[in-house]
Amino acid sequence: MYFIANWKMFGGLSTLNSLKKVIKFLKIFKKSKKIKIIYCPPSTLICPMSKKVINSKIQVGAQNCHESFTYGASTGSINPTMLKNVGAKYVILGHSENRDSGETDKLINAKIRAATQAGLKVIFCIGETLGQKRKKITKKILSKQINFGLQKIKKRKNIVIAYEPVWSIGTGLIPKADDLFNTINFIKKKVINIKVLYGGSVNPKNINELKLIKNIDGFLIGGASQDPKKFIDIIKKTYN
Ligand code: PEP
Repeated sequence: MYFIANWKMFGGLSTLNSLKKVIKFLKIFKKSKKIKIIYCPPSTLICPMSKKVINSKIQVGAQNCHESFTYGASTGSINPTMLKNVGAKYVILGHSENRDSGETDKLINAKIRAATQAGLKVIFCIGETLGQKRKKITKKILSKQINFGLQKIKKRKNIVIAYEPVWSIGTGLIPKADDLFNTINFIKKKVINIKVLYGGSVNPKNINELKLIKNIDGFLIGGASQDPKKFIDIIKKTYN
């Protein structure tokens, strides 16, 4: 099971102290060997966080990257090679908050290719909006995002998919259990041998419901991951 923390635009150097609790918990947690813990802080914290988590179970990831893996004239951008150089092992790509700011499937595909070429593992986010759900075109949307996003990428072993319905992110809403099971199943049939995580308002309360959905390989956790107690609770409850 994956537990991925997406800190979004949150955190300064002092926030890194909150990791101590998580590291301590992971040392004594009996199921620690069975889980992967990845923290994706803002780019400013990748390097200091990587130093803090040395010798712990926590791995560090980035929240986005440029579509070129080499240096270039692109003011304000960071490429995947640079992220790897400061300790990132993963990168989140295709997040709906970035799709919303204009990232196209084509650009996301280029980013996935650059990231894997640079040696990063990719957390590839897909998901439908509320309008698309209401129109009952979720599968069509996910198919399009997958087909374009993974175009010409034959080696997919370094990619995991995070299914994140846009209407669920930051709203407190989660899909009905049956719907979620069926959607995850649909993705797994479409992309064989891929891990599929769920993301969208995961918290210590609804994890009891979500953990019963058998085909989920882990969770991408936004808001709740900023609080170490909530993040630990989510992990604990998944195995209770
Ligand atoms: C996210 O941004 O990836 C996410 C899942 O956010 P939240 O958990 O806050 O809904």
